[in-house]
Amino acid sequence: MLYDDFYVKSLIQTVEDWPKEGISFRDITPIFSDPKGMRMVVDAYVHRYMSSDISHIACIDARGFLIAAVLAYELQKPLILIRKKGKLPGKTVSQAYALEYGEAELEIQEGAVKAGNNVLLFDDLIATGGTLFAAIKLLTGQGATIKEVAAIIDLPDLGGSEKLRESDVPVFSLCAYDGD
Ligand code: AMP
Repeated sequence: MLYDDFYVKSLIQTVEDWPKEGISFRDITPIFSDPKGMRMVVDAYVHRYMSSDISHIACIDARGFLIAAVLAYELQKPLILIRKKGKLPGKTVSQAYALEYGEAELEIQEGAVKAGNNVLLFDDLIATGGTLFAAIKLLTGQGATIKEVAAIIDLPDLGGSEKLRESDVPVFSLCAYDGD
């Protein structure tokens, strides 16, 4: 299905002052309950990556899982879960990071990826980039290469996507909320 920026943006709700005062929370939940919107979003990524040389798709707990799982199914790629601390069994590696609103820690299972793997890293939204940089450290720490970071939403005012590009990480987002 052809991607319609206006349609997808009309599904994204902005919730002011949540989860903290001063944060404009961009809620993508309505995309999941709108089959047309869900198909549009997934198809946009399928078309972008169907001929690329990515070997794995990694995604970040929890909203990142939802689109990335469908994409991995469509593209027939292994899906790697990067989870919040304490959720993954077995031997894990962790990485602490700062959020737009708070602090957190991400984990990956040891041996989830290895040198030679070309990873597409997916999350729902790029704000300061702290989450994605932590995930990148976990993946590159095991030898993988990041082919691209993909998100539904970019908040360019918070500088994350620019920092990623400055670090030579290609970034793709479906839509951006710039200055609003
Ligand atoms: P950051 O690490 O600052 O780039 O924040 C990105 C992560 O935090 C993503 O996993 C988002 O789900 C979440 N996040 C940060 N800011 C927002 C926001 N304004 N609206 C919705 N989610 C957000």
